[in-house]
Amino acid sequence: MVRGGPILLILGAAQDGGVPHAGCRARCCEAAWADPARRRDPACAAIIDPATGRRWMIDCTPRFPEQLRRLEETSPRGDGAPLDGIFLTHAHVGHYAGLIHLGREAMGTRGVPVHAMPRMASFLRTQGPWGQLVSLGNVDLRPLEDGRAVPLSEGLSVTPFAVPHRGEYSETVGFRVAGSRCSALYLPDIDTWDRWDTPLGEALRGVDVAFLDGTFFDAGELPGRALAEVPHPLMRDTLLRLAPLPPVERAKVRFLHL
Ligand SMILES: [Zn+2]
Ligand SMILES: [Zn+2]
Repeated sequence: MVRGGPILLILGAAQDGGVPHAGCRARCCEAAWADPARRRDPACAAIIDPATGRRWMIDCTPRFPEQLRRLEETSPRGDGAPLDGIFLTHAHVGHYAGLIHLGREAMGTRGVPVHAMPRMASFLRTQGPWGQLVSLGNVDLRPLEDGRAVPLSEGLSVTPFAVPHRGEYSETVGFRVAGSRCSALYLPDIDTWDRWDTPLGEALRGVDVAFLDGTFFDAGELPGRALAEVPHPLMRDTLLRLAPLPPVERAKVRFLHL
């Protein structure tokens, strides 16, 4: 964010399935099968506090091993502790399924704080295999509350905000990450801007940079599938919505979950 201050490191910007997508024969996926440099991991971010060496992740994707490795390479902790916490947006596979690596069959972590909204936490506690992570103490569930900031260290906090998104198993939140001089919005999944109680322009005004749902560019992106089953704001529509805003506001937007 600001030199010497906390860092928001984007560890993945693809949609839940990553690139290349399972079974996909599209040109972009074929190119990624052929060239590992073109592969893209699902959306995930790390918050790093250089002052304390502490590190948190936002979401825990199926590519958690690679993403944790990249975080280690960028910001080694030195004491072997994997993470100081994980903040979960929601219970769609690209956002939490990597938790499985914390369990007995893999890392066997002890008490990694997992911050989750009430339905998300209940889902993890009561549904296998996630419940075993809780009962064995691999993770320590910490309740999140809509709009209530979680302090991470001095001058650094994470605040969840609820957004409309298919809620089969959990609520969905985005996060506002605030340092003492800079702040960022992290919002990988939302069904529509219209059903969110915060106008997009207002959400942008409060931050320095915003990572927003860019799942589909336009309605032709998912041949053979009904877009209505997996609604997202189309990037084309989001761009039109952003068009009347001052350039300084538009320049804050980075699309992710692509
Ligand atoms: Zn997603
Ligand atoms: Zn989702």
